[in-house]
Amino acid sequence: MKLNRVNTNVYYIDGGVNLGLVVGENGDALLLDAGIDESVARKARRLIEESGFRLKGIIITHAHADHCGGAPYLVKATGAKVFSSAFEKTVLEFPIWEPLYLFSGAYPPAPLRNKFLLAPGVKVDGVMEPGKGSIEGIDVEFLDISGHTLGQIGIEVEGVLFCADSVIAQEYIKKHGVPLHAHIKKALDTLNFLEKRSAALFIPSHGVPVDDIKPVVDANRQRIMETLEYVTDILKEPRTAEEILRGVCERFGIVMSNMTQYYLMNLSVMAYIGYLLDEGEIMNFYEAGRQFFRVKM
Ligand SMILES: [Zn+2]
Repeated sequence: MKLNRVNTNVYYIDGGVNLGLVVGENGDALLLDAGIDESVARKARRLIEESGFRLKGIIITHAHADHCGGAPYLVKATGAKVFSSAFEKTVLEFPIWEPLYLFSGAYPPAPLRNKFLLAPGVKVDGVMEPGKGSIEGIDVEFLDISGHTLGQIGIEVEGVLFCADSVIAQEYIKKHGVPLHAHIKKALDTLNFLEKRSAALFIPSHGVPVDDIKPVVDANRQRIMETLEYVTDILKEPRTAEEILRGVCERFGIVMSNMTQYYLMNLSVMAYIGYLLDEGEIMNFYEAGRQFFRVKM
């Protein structure tokens, strides 16, 4: 991990999740995301303080543990305030929501209560709406980049746009098969939004900063379209959600090996099923205690 300067007042710390840093005239700083745990957050804090900056605020893009798990440590160590969207606040403050919704709203068993799905909770001090705003005297534009989660936000400062998990780098698409999205229509809207946005630099949470977001957007959109096409195609025959999940894994070379991976992939597949139902492309019916989906005749 190191602190990379991208223009006068904007930096990012590279790592498992790239963290953003925006510094005001007086050295007060806002951190974007907090890393997965105390160890990452400690390193980030050291980098910030060694540069002579004071951490005043932490903006959490969305309540996935790899983005927010380090926040409680930073709050305790520095007194920084935490900011998020209204929706993500609910999960940040009651982190059991993530493994809970993955497990159909039932209390998640121990294998799902791990550090990748269940972050320590953190109190949110301020809720941010899309548009121009200011935190601790530092001007930031908040962007609605939902889709990956329902309340994901990005920020733009001085032409640098931090786009969180709205896109992932092409090599990660190859590695993961199908990028995680909870809301396909919003994910597609966000890709269109990013493509039209004329920022000088885009910094995704997973991948390297790019000055041209178009190829990254294209690759992400293409994989969503391929997934939609595949699901629609196999639903010419009635299939259960589990069968659709199996098919998507086969199609994109995804090998399941644990509960975390299974339920995250299941969430993505349910997002595609929900989207196709809402678009009127597919229908559901029940037979012998099972729910089937198929394309509308
Ligand atoms: Zn995420």
